[in-house]
Order: sequence, then C-alpha cells, then structure tokens
Amino acid sequence: MNHQHDIVIVGSGLAGLRAAIELGVDTKTAVLSKVFATRSHSGAAQGGIGAALGNEEEDKWEWHMFDTIKGSDYLGDQDAIEILARDAPRAIYELEHMGVPFNRTKEGKIAQRAFGGHTREFGQAPVKRACYAATRTGRVILDTLWEKCLQRGIEFYDEFQMLSLIIEKGHCCGVVAYELATGELHVFHSKAVLVATGGAGKIFKTTSNAFASTGDGMAIAYRAGAPLEDMEFVQFHPTGIYKLGILISEAARGEGGILRNAQGDRFMERYAPVIKDLAPRDMISRCILQEIRAGQGIDGKDYVHLDLTHLGKEVIESKLAEITSFARTYAGVDPIKEPIPVQPTCHYMMGGIATDNEGRVIADEQRTPFPGLYAAGECACVSVHGANRLGCNALLDLLVFGRRAGREMRKYSHSIGFQSLPPNPAKADQDRIDALMQNHSGVSIPEIRSQMQEVMMDNVSVFREANGLEAALKEVMQLKQRYQQIGITDKGRCFNRDLLDAIELGHLLDLAEVITRGALLRQESRGAHTREDYPERDDERWLSHTMCRFTGDKEPDIFYKPVVITEHQPQERKY
Ligand SMILES: Cc1cc2nc3c(=O)[nH]c(=O)nc-3n(C[C@H](O)[C@H](O)[C@H](O)COP(=O)(O)OP(=O)(O)OC[C@H]3O[C@@H](n4cnc5c(N)ncnc54)[C@H](O)[C@@H]3O)c2cc1C
Repeated sequence: MNHQHDIVIVGSGLAGLRAAIELGVDTKTAVLSKVFATRSHSGAAQGGIGAALGNEEEDKWEWHMFDTIKGSDYLGDQDAIEILARDAPRAIYELEHMGVPFNRTKEGKIAQRAFGGHTREFGQAPVKRACYAATRTGRVILDTLWEKCLQRGIEFYDEFQMLSLIIEKGHCCGVVAYELATGELHVFHSKAVLVATGGAGKIFKTTSNAFASTGDGMAIAYRAGAPLEDMEFVQFHPTGIYKLGILISEAARGEGGILRNAQGDRFMERYAPVIKDLAPRDMISRCILQEIRAGQGIDGKDYVHLDLTHLGKEVIESKLAEITSFARTYAGVDPIKEPIPVQPTCHYMMGGIATDNEGRVIADEQRTPFPGLYAAGECACVSVHGANRLGCNALLDLLVFGRRAGREMRKYSHSIGFQSLPPNPAKADQDRIDALMQNHSGVSIPEIRSQMQEVMMDNVSVFREANGLEAALKEVMQLKQRYQQIGITDKGRCFNRDLLDAIELGHLLDLAEVITRGALLRQESRGAHTREDYPERDDERWLSHTMCRFTGDKEPDIFYKPVVITEHQPQERKY
C-alpha cells in the first residue's frame, strides 16, 4: 500500500514526538513506530532531565555547559553543547506548560535533585539540576507529548517497522515499512524523513535497554550512505541489577545512595574525592570493575552493593518509587532494609547518525547535508555527549534537538515539492523477506545473537585492548557470514517475530562491527572508551570524531572530523 505525507518520522520516543509537535498543524506528518507509540524506551527513563533552573540552589547554564564538556572528556562539540545548556530551561518550562507533572519544592517550583557529573562553579561541588517526576520522568513526558500530537492531528502508524529508506538521486524521499499485524509492505512517500529510532543496547549481553533497542535506524541510515559518528563510545551505567541489567537510576545516588564493596567501604571516596558517588558514569563503572578485580566484589562475585538503607522509608518510597519496586521484584531485596546488588550494564550509545545542530544528517567531514534525511535522539550524534554522556542530558537532547529538527524539516518541506519515487521501491525488501522465508538452512538466529552479545560484552565493553578487540572483530565478521545463511521457521504473515528478529539481528551485527573497528583504531582512553594498552587520553592524535561509512562488500571507510571547541580547552579530567 502507498501513503503520502510531507514528513515521515520513524520513532515515537521523545525525539520523534517533540519533532512532530514542531511540524505544526500545517505539515502533513506521519509517525511510524515498531511498538505502540507510548511503549517507546523513552517511557522507561527514570531519574530526570537536566536544566539549570536554580530552583533548589544557585545554578547557571554556563556551569551546565562546562560539566557537559568535561563529562564528554572534551569530545563533545561545544557549539552544540552550548545550545543544549542554554535552551534547557525553556525546554522544561515548555513541558510544564504542556502539563507534565513534575515533583515540586515546598514553594511550588519544579523540584531538582543531584545527578552524576553535574556541579556548581565549574566542578566545586554537586548541584541539584535534574528535574524529575519520582522515577517515572520519561513516562510522564512521553504520555504528555503523545497527547499533544493527537491533538494536532499527527497520524500514527503503530507497529509499522521501517525496513529501508528510499533514496532517489541522492535524496531521501520516503521509507518502506512492514506492517506487523498483516505482513504487508507499505511505501511511505515524503519530502523528508526523520530517523528517531533510539539506541542499540541489545548488541551487548547485559543491558538496561528495551527489546526494541536494536539500532535499526542507525544501521539502515548507514547502509543508505549516511556516516555513523563515534560509535565506539558506548556507555555502561554503573548500577544495573546484578545479572539482569535492569536499571537502578542514578537518582538513587542523587538522593544520597552509596556504593559499597565487600568490606562495606564507600570506595568512590578514593577515586573521586570531591563528588564521590556522583562522579560520571564511565568513571564509576571502571571503579566498580576495578574493585571486583581487586577481590572486593560481594562474596567474591562480580557485583557491588548500592546502599540506600540510610535514606529512610519516606524518601525511598516517594522519590525512588519505581526502582524500589524493581529491586523488590527482580533482585528480591527491599532497599529500605538491604543494599541492592549492582553491576555495570550497557545503557546508551553516545555515537550515532552524524547530524548538524539542526538535525540534518551530514554526509562528510565538511558537514554537507544529505538531502531529505534528518536524525534526532539517541540514534543521532550531534555531538553533545562526546565520549561520555552525563545523566539526565539524554532526555534534554531529545527535546532540544528533536524540536530543532522539526523546525528545520518544516521549513524544508514548505519550500520544495515531492521528489518522484524510484520504480517499485519495496522490491528489494520484498525479495529479502522472500529469501529469508524460503531458506531452510537451520542456522539459528538466537545462537548468532547470543554469540555476538557474549563477545561484545567480554571484549568490547568497559575495558578494551588490542587482542580482545581483534578477536571480537574476527568473530563478528564470522557471525556476519553465518548470518547470510539464516532461515525463518515461522512462515506466517501475522506478527512474525521470527522474521523481525532476523532483520534486527542484521542491524545489530552491522553496528557491532562499526563499534569494534572504531575502538580498535582509537589508540587512547577517553570517556567510556578505555584501552588498557593505551591508558592515557591523547589530544594531539585523537581529539577528533570517528566517522564510519558503509562501502558495500569492502571494509567500511573510516575517516575523522574535528571537534568543535569554542570556550573550554581540554584539561585533565579530575572529580
Ligand atoms: C532504563 C532507562 C532509563 C533512562 N533514564 C534516563 C533518565 O532518567 N534521564 C535521561 O536523560 N535519559 C535516560 N535514559 C536515556 C533515554 O531515555 C534514551 O536515550 C531516550 O529515551 C531515547 O529516546 P529516543 O526518542 O531517541 O528513542 P526511544 O524512546 O528509544 O524510541 C525509539 C522509537 O523508535 C521506534 N523504532 C525503532 N526502530 C524502528 C523501526 N525499524 N521502525 C519503526 N520504528 C522503529 C521505536 O518503536 C520507538 O518508538 C534512560 C534509558 C533507559 C534505557
């Protein structure tokens, strides 16, 4: 079936929805999502959204900007970070006016709490900067934006999965999508497409991400010719529930929670004497693993304790409600009385589809726009997070840059007509599906997926070194070969998970390769990328963004783009 809309947005997380709102009522907009719109991963965001409102104590956007640059280990582009920090208060008041039910101070202002790496006066002490609604911040923002979209007549296509972008004469002019309920292919013809498909945590064995976080948009844009930027920077959040990876938000430490090792020691005091348990995530994840390596894991195992017991029942139940119930349900511990067993869990992709500050996908290091193609949210790399994202800056990124992408696409779509579609744009996808359906080889999807997740976890997670990375790359390339042979056992057309798993696995493998290649080449340690064989940051050689372009059957083309530095020259990163 064919559809025509001025703009197609793929993804109904906060990035996609905020862009849709900005397109206004005079732009015919469709939002596609492979899950029901409000089940997007943004709804799982817990702890908060950052803005220097100064409601609880003095704060300034300049401090927020500095913290974000330092947090990024000086890899973030400072022009983009300035936009993020300056625009943050406006973005929060806008949400307030839309009706988002934030927690309040006694005087009725939006309440704020501390989060890792957010400080006052350029690193002097932690500052309360995260606005929140208990530990359901993403949920309430997502539901509110969704209602606003419905009011504006945005058309939703829920449970429609994008399979490819349609590129004709170098322009992106639509998408091919698979309707989960019927197995039918749909062609969406548009003047421009926004990719807002979220993260790719499912590349790793342990992750806080949803099952749908399979990096589809990044991989599809990559195959369509858009370069991916800084993919080797993968964030491991320090406090996933032991063995499961389910997130215990940083809000727990923002409210005063403490990490302890087997001796009961507050070990972060030794590593980050000023801000201790509120150091940035890359650092804390490394420290936890160092403690475990030194034999200080609880009961000799690979986890430590997150202790909230001193916070008291009231704080825990009112401000940390959801994560308390997660700890009870999934770890079987009551955080009011006992510490929670935690270990680092794959949480966030700092890298993604390279864009400029207006959400335009860029095709090269000169920032030439890719006509008709836009990206925002976790699948994009602006880059405001550089080598390590600070907590509560992701939600902010979605709103600030989702809005800017919407604004830019509106201008673009009102200035041009529709580019004609190529003949039969869905043919390649239909052929691929037919081939998968007809294959009986017996090569198992779950087996390839779990081998990829294991090797990525073992060799490409928090600590990396050349031998492990080379072994991982070799294995990923072999898995990609075997992937060519996979077949589908479910031959049905209605909610065929088997088929979609196969397609998603292809995306995960492509991204695993890009991450590993970037990590192998980058011979330094910066932010979340720790090379044990190159333990120092090397600004002379590596103060640049990795760009990776798909080249068909050949090895991907890797090149570098300079970092934008406006105000803050790289310094030693101490906390
Ligand atoms: C557990 C958890 C807690 C977090 N807590 C916080 C927090 O407190 N503060 C903070 O700042 N950040 C937090 N983050 C990070 C932040 O929530 C995410 O980075 C962010 O929500 C991503 O939003 P998004 O709009 O880019 O995409 P998502 O919300 O991930 O949505 C992706 C959308 O794309 C759609 N999609 C994907 N592939 C396809 C396809 N092929 N076809 C069609 N549709 C597709 C999905 O259906 C979905 O609608 C948290 C993340 C997690 C996992």
